[in-house]
Amino acid sequence: MKVFKVIKPLVSYLNDARKSNTTIGLVPTMGALHEGHLSLLKASKKENNLTVCSIYVNPTQFNDKKDLLKYPRNMQKDLELLESVGCDVAFAPADDEMYISKPTLRMNFGYLEQVMEGKFREGHFSGVGLVVSKLFNIVQPDKAYFGQKDLQQYHVIKELVKDLSYPIEIRPIETLREPDGLAKSSRNARLDSQARTKSVILYESLKQAENMLRTGESVGTVKDFFDGKFQQTDNARLEYFEIVNAHDLSPLRNIMDTDRVALCVAAFFGEVRLIDNIIFSAKAKE
Ligand code: AMP
Repeated sequence: MKVFKVIKPLVSYLNDARKSNTTIGLVPTMGALHEGHLSLLKASKKENNLTVCSIYVNPTQFNDKKDLLKYPRNMQKDLELLESVGCDVAFAPADDEMYISKPTLRMNFGYLEQVMEGKFREGHFSGVGLVVSKLFNIVQPDKAYFGQKDLQQYHVIKELVKDLSYPIEIRPIETLREPDGLAKSSRNARLDSQARTKSVILYESLKQAENMLRTGESVGTVKDFFDGKFQQTDNARLEYFEIVNAHDLSPLRNIMDTDRVALCVAAFFGEVRLIDNIIFSAKAKE
């Protein structure tokens, strides 16, 4: 595996590769890699001749500086994991390589800024849009891979690609979970054992909410159930729970109004903020 920390040699390496009709897949990450990330890499390996994984904890997408400082980092282990799945190129730039000076450009994704992650993390998607645009311009991939776990981010990236005419196919990849259902996340490493035990209510409640909706409970009743469940759990604080149309993340009053329902949640366990979601079709017969 080739490891680049500087943009110029990476660009010339990829330009050479492109001359022989090599197709390039990009997997953007913030490191502290786990099997969820590896499933994106495996998908890219399958569909492209060359896979690039970027590892960069992007400061412009952190609204909470404490969160940025505490974000887990383990470059050596990350590089070993990338080797183990046959990643071809790792790109791990330093801050001053990605941002020559503090960027002034801001992106605004309209409705997506006003709800869920956009509402609670001001400026987050502007930072995501900025860094992903940079990575797209540097790597110029044919395909780029994003996890469904960050559903709203996936929608933001789809907007970015459409509005800026990037000739890149965006591939969503299903969420990989721990055996007890907790979505794998770099932030899980920061949960103490009590918070880790409580964190199972995230996925458990999502599945319960899905079952309630499928059996005809109203959106309002299910929201009340969700609030109640978190109120009864010590050391857990619900930030939001939304029942939305998975196609555009608009709120649903009735799940029969779409063929793809998404249940999205963010909650704190101790100091650690986790997000998760599930998507299901209410119209499909089981
Ligand atoms: P991050 O390093 O958290 O920015 O994540 C990098 C990419 O991996 C994003 O597209 C995430 O949505 C994706 N990802 C994170 N966790 C998972 C997971 N448990 N399963 C699948 N993809 C994931």
